[in-house]
Amino acid sequence: MSLPPATEVLIVGAGPTGLTCALGLSKRGIPFVVIDAVAAGHNESRAVVVHSCTLETLGALDESLAQTISTDGIRSPTLTALDAKQPVLFRVQFDKLADRTKYPYCVLCPQHRVEKHLRQALIGHEVHWGRRVVSMQEVHDRYEVVFDSGEVITSRYVVGADGNNSTIRTLAGIRLLHPFTKVPLDPNSPKNVLSFVVADVLFENPLPEALPKDALTLIIGEAGVIIPLPVPAEEGDDAANPRRRIYFAVPDIPPSKPDVPYLQGLIEARQTHAPPAGGQPIPRITRVLDSGRFRTGLAPAETYVCSATSGTAHIVLAGDAAHRHGPGGGQGMNLGICDAAALAEAIAEHHGAMSCSTDSRKALEEGDIFSRYEQRRMAVAREVSFVAEEMAKVEKPEPGWAGWLRTNLLWLLLKIPAVNRMAAWRLSGMKYV
Ligand SMILES: Cc1cc2nc3c(=O)[nH]c(=O)nc-3n(C[C@H](O)[C@H](O)[C@H](O)COP(=O)(O)OP(=O)(O)OC[C@H]3O[C@@H](n4cnc5c(N)ncnc54)[C@H](O)[C@@H]3O)c2cc1C
Repeated sequence: MSLPPATEVLIVGAGPTGLTCALGLSKRGIPFVVIDAVAAGHNESRAVVVHSCTLETLGALDESLAQTISTDGIRSPTLTALDAKQPVLFRVQFDKLADRTKYPYCVLCPQHRVEKHLRQALIGHEVHWGRRVVSMQEVHDRYEVVFDSGEVITSRYVVGADGNNSTIRTLAGIRLLHPFTKVPLDPNSPKNVLSFVVADVLFENPLPEALPKDALTLIIGEAGVIIPLPVPAEEGDDAANPRRRIYFAVPDIPPSKPDVPYLQGLIEARQTHAPPAGGQPIPRITRVLDSGRFRTGLAPAETYVCSATSGTAHIVLAGDAAHRHGPGGGQGMNLGICDAAALAEAIAEHHGAMSCSTDSRKALEEGDIFSRYEQRRMAVAREVSFVAEEMAKVEKPEPGWAGWLRTNLLWLLLKIPAVNRMAAWRLSGMKYV
């Protein structure tokens, strides 16, 4: 499929963020082109938890899309944490948010399936795959964007939805800052990133009873957390032995394709209280279906918006391009989707005002619309990153009395209905809708 020479909005990146922005623009009739560097959509193990706020956001754009995602995935009305020794440590109850949302649960639906549903909802629009942005410059009142294929497109708005190592962010000269000191960060320095392992595996049947097939359950031990998430079956899977997606934060650089011995070793190291020491039995992995590693750390972009000197063309960031953080609490994909829906609204408003009266244009020169987008979404990203970092702390090994104290404090606090509801409200993202 050939690229048109010009468009109003160029969306760089067809991950969950870029696709949601495309959907938001298509619903508002704004012309756009969405491109991605890779040859086709991926089906790798990545994010899996879709929270209520994301379903609400997608549902506002396309009710049937939110329904499709929530029926395709596994609905979990709770997040249950098991202590290695106690049966249930705490249970965060999303179902108690039924008075606030049509979706009082989280949905375990892998990222590649969410992306597939988003692409299907983009009726009449295709992703232009295999186009990697290599340079960008201001030409007259537009940005001219050049691809590795040599093709060129001009656009009034460029959406940087190109992930963690965003080329658009780099080309726009937007730096990542330390979240507290505001000192510019080298995103690739080992001290600024943490390593994570993610894998789809089969466990020996039957799984310990404490790990149900249809609920989000973690095991918190002194030596770290085990997260074996149930995910929907893929084509060719054995229904009697469903796949699970597991995540681990690891201190060293993991192998690029973690195998059974490596992953089983991580589980066993974390399950120090396994029987006969009185804890949960150790789940045994029999096969790795897919595995990978990723590295990320807390690093927000200094700004989400960069305007051309003419003031009539704009680069705007969303999703991982605008903020990086760890996978604690399963927030990355959710945050990106909600950013993108807000950005599509902002672009549509800006685009509408550009073709209106002089007063509307004057308001635009002051940059009101995009700075409002930036302020709103930066504030949400700060809070969500905080939640992700707090969750990451829970996932870290904490031996001795500190671990005991943390575990019992969580047990005690989450028994208080108001605290439990607040945890559900924040984790589900409903606080930000
Ligand atoms: C292995 C792995 C596991 C993860 N697990 C979790 C998890 O458990 N929980 C969680 O919350 N988050 C997780 N994440 C992060 C989560 O996947 C991201 O938060 C989410 O994908 C962000 O979506 P996005 O659309 O902003 O960026 P991405 O999904 O990264 O999409 C960016 C797109 O831009 C394209 N692109 C990049 N550069 C260019 C260029 N120069 N030109 C054109 N296209 C370009 C890429 O090909 C890609 O398709 C994981 C990520 C990885 C890699």
